[in-house]
Amino acid sequence: MYFNKLITYFFYISPIFTLKIIINTLKKIMTRVVTEACKGKKHGDCVEVCPADCFYELDDMLVINPDDCTDCSACESECPEEAILPDDEAPQEWIDFNANADFDNLKNITDKDEITR
Ligand code: SF4
Ligand code: SF4
Repeated sequence: MYFNKLITYFFYISPIFTLKIIINTLKKIMTRVVTEACKGKKHGDCVEVCPADCFYELDDMLVINPDDCTDCSACESECPEEAILPDDEAPQEWIDFNANADFDNLKNITDKDEITR
């Protein structure tokens, strides 16, 4: 009896738990990414709709802190330049560019009026 329960757990229940953990982990690391099309624009429309204050300012564009992004996608449709992409569609160089930004020393933009013009 005990042996049957053990077999049921390892062959049926355990794989389902494992799959759920993998899916949740993948969901967690998904993020939006600002790409080249933002350069020289800095409209800030994206900032206005972000519920997690993810945007930081560089000299010529904004970047998203992937640690803060909840991947809600609200910013993507707001960008008139179509500069914001999900990380499974964005070029790797722009995923790295956003992720490697020096967020501790960049200005967090929570309102478009805070952007340096
Ligand atoms: S709306 Fe688009 S182009 Fe404008 S600042 Fe945001 S990401 Fe950049
Ligand atoms: S996907 Fe959502 S949380 Fe992430 S940067 Fe865009 S608006 Fe902010």
